[in-house]
Amino acid sequence: MLTTWVTAGGNLIAMRPDPKLAGLLGITYASGTITNGYMKVAPTAPVGTGLVNNTRLQFHGTADKFRLAAGSGAVNLGYLYSAAASTDSFPGVTLRPVGTAGGQAAAFAYGLSRSVVLTRQGNPAWAGQDRDGNAPVRSDDLFYGNSVNDPKPDWNDFSLIQIPQADEQQRLLRKMIAHMALDRKPLPSFWYLPRKLKAVVVMTGDDHAHNGTDPRFRQYMALSPVNCSVEKWECIRGTSYVFYDTPLADVDAASFNAKGFEVALHVNTGCATATQPLMEEALSKQLPEFKKNFPSLPAPTTNRNHCIAWANYASPAVDQRKYGIRLDTNYYYWPEKFVQDRPGLFTGSGMPMRFAHSDGTKIDVYQAATQLTDEANIDYTKHITTLLDNALGAKGFYAVITANMHTDQGASVGSDAIVQAAIARKVPVITAKQLLDWLDVRNKARFSAIQWKGGVMSFQIADVSSTVPGLQAMVPSTVNGLTISTIKRNGGATPIAFSTMVVKGVSYAFFAGLNGSYEIQYK
Ligand SMILES: [Zn+2]
Repeated sequence: MLTTWVTAGGNLIAMRPDPKLAGLLGITYASGTITNGYMKVAPTAPVGTGLVNNTRLQFHGTADKFRLAAGSGAVNLGYLYSAAASTDSFPGVTLRPVGTAGGQAAAFAYGLSRSVVLTRQGNPAWAGQDRDGNAPVRSDDLFYGNSVNDPKPDWNDFSLIQIPQADEQQRLLRKMIAHMALDRKPLPSFWYLPRKLKAVVVMTGDDHAHNGTDPRFRQYMALSPVNCSVEKWECIRGTSYVFYDTPLADVDAASFNAKGFEVALHVNTGCATATQPLMEEALSKQLPEFKKNFPSLPAPTTNRNHCIAWANYASPAVDQRKYGIRLDTNYYYWPEKFVQDRPGLFTGSGMPMRFAHSDGTKIDVYQAATQLTDEANIDYTKHITTLLDNALGAKGFYAVITANMHTDQGASVGSDAIVQAAIARKVPVITAKQLLDWLDVRNKARFSAIQWKGGVMSFQIADVSSTVPGLQAMVPSTVNGLTISTIKRNGGATPIAFSTMVVKGVSYAFFAGLNGSYEIQYK
């Protein structure tokens, strides 16, 4: 069936395929596998250009060793290695043109989706272990190699800590899909963040019933531009995760909420491992107490646990979802002996994405890893400027950077440094709730009826909510030698505005992603 599909002009991308597909894919199986090895993107245009392509990146899980079949026409888009400095090399990602109808068959030697989840969420074999010697079980234990009783390499290689390895490999897949579809039609997509933002700071702080929340939020108001728009992310805003009995009056909390700040519960398991019964107990008892003390506030939809208590692989995320919490900041770049003042993205990603169980089942809670904390003895300015400049500059390591600068006190050296660096680079500082609202807008929006005919691309955009404005649609600036000329919406006589930006080696035209029908002329 798959061979018939591809021969007739269809495209196939197989992840760690069944050997029965070898003929179609143009590969022959060598014996053996590589587990938790490395892959390097080939710098071949157009797919490999613009990505991190001169460095071995990690994959997690198991890859099959195979070779390109002689005479099959298959090419390497990526290479596989057993280790960071090994001399072996196998095809890691392959692409083969099939037949005369434009069909193409591609293969990843490893399961990309599985590898992405494992890179972001840590090693399932370490689930439930206290590896860093700091009880309770926390998210960093899933990444921390140097356990006293079980010394192993760190799960994600620190020599690559600034590279969003999982994101770059997803971008490889995204570029393959676009490239393989191009003989039929170019594909539109949505940009990660509102407008053409390449980075955003999610400012949060935990408040253990000390109410530094009030003075901190007032400081953010003072730092915000006059007449700033909260919905356009122009105001400096932050989240405070509070113990439910923090001495903040409901009327003041309501006033902050109305101004776009977020006051949510700092769920407290008593600093014990957040096993299902303990997490459930904390949520079921503390959320009603929070509601009693803050009747004017909306129910919390984002969270960080006290002591960043975690358990198992992803069970705290499941427990949170049951209680309406849909964004989690518990993944935490900590402690000092792990971080060693090295700025980076310890989950191999700068992007929030939904959690998955270890079997791959999706959980409707976003993981927004906290990359900056005020309890790992870091040089705040070095960390924030490194992460922001990596996102804004030529590297294109686009990132949502989450910070925990405790709101126990109003003053915070770390918060000051982060906000200052963000303002200097015109990077918004928002709440976790603002991020969640945005993710919902972007992920509900969709394209349909995509067509390409006679140099004209057309499609519909639907389900764009106005909760957070600024959704950007993007289409390639050039298609098969033709250059974009005009974009019209809903049959209007006047073309709409667009601007171009190069993303991972490809020039795109960006324009407002509003509901409607679009017709794009290429000449
Ligand atoms: Zn706490």
